[in-house]
Amino acid sequence: MPESCRPQTIPVPRRPWTLDRRRALPYIGVDDAASLLVAFSGRHGGVSRGPCGGANMAWQVGDDDRAVAANRRLLLEEVAGSGRPPRLITVTQVHGDRVMTVESRRGCDPGVWRHLEADGLITREPGPCLGILTADCFPVLLAAGENAGVGAVHAGWRGVVRGIVPRAIEKLAVLAGVRPAAMRMFIGPGIRRCCFEVGEEVPAALERACPALDVATIWWPGPRPGYGYLDLPAAICRQAQGAGVQVEHIADCGLCTADGDFFFSYRRDHGITGRQIGVIGLRAG
Ligand SMILES: [Zn+2]
Repeated sequence: MPESCRPQTIPVPRRPWTLDRRRALPYIGVDDAASLLVAFSGRHGGVSRGPCGGANMAWQVGDDDRAVAANRRLLLEEVAGSGRPPRLITVTQVHGDRVMTVESRRGCDPGVWRHLEADGLITREPGPCLGILTADCFPVLLAAGENAGVGAVHAGWRGVVRGIVPRAIEKLAVLAGVRPAAMRMFIGPGIRRCCFEVGEEVPAALERACPALDVATIWWPGPRPGYGYLDLPAAICRQAQGAGVQVEHIADCGLCTADGDFFFSYRRDHGITGRQIGVIGLRAG
């Protein structure tokens, strides 16, 4: 392995990240985005039982829908503080490159959105929070200028090959009327190079799709023939910079979902597990 796994308890990430373990549902937040709601949940807190035990945020992974609704409500109450909890928009994620716009014209009913297939959401509406469900893939959140718009992207390696991150950046720039250079990007917890062993076909697909990516700097051969370790957030950062996002505007929490027990991890839990969520929204009022 190119570097050793982190210890069993995750460290408190450095600024701008925050983590208050005493909360009923602890989440990773940012401390310098007053006009934004930004949060990445883990598996601690919550009311789910069984393999999804804790704070599972996803429907259709074998959990009780009432438990999922309670977990989502608990997170939104924690994130909103004294204000009214916002609505949470999630979609059916399919590892594609479709980015949809949440707008009042189309309706902001979470019950309608949850059945639509997409892997990216953008909006300039204050109020609704956009959510991305993950258990090793990366939730990537975007904020355009001061209150101009936000975006949320499901970035697994298949979505990265399809270019979903630059696509969301470009669509959000048009919607919000700001240049990508004025955007901030937050990279949440996901499986990192310490734990993300993949076959050679994955870096090969990345290289074909993004010739500008220097694959030798994001993939290292491992001891197993034909396999190696992939630094997916590094690829996400390079693609975002290629789309015009400034490197100093990218904040990566640096946490690996497969280390310790703070997060759900599809790989560590052999596919039977819940999902955490990354949420972003413009504060209403
Ligand atoms: Zn790891």
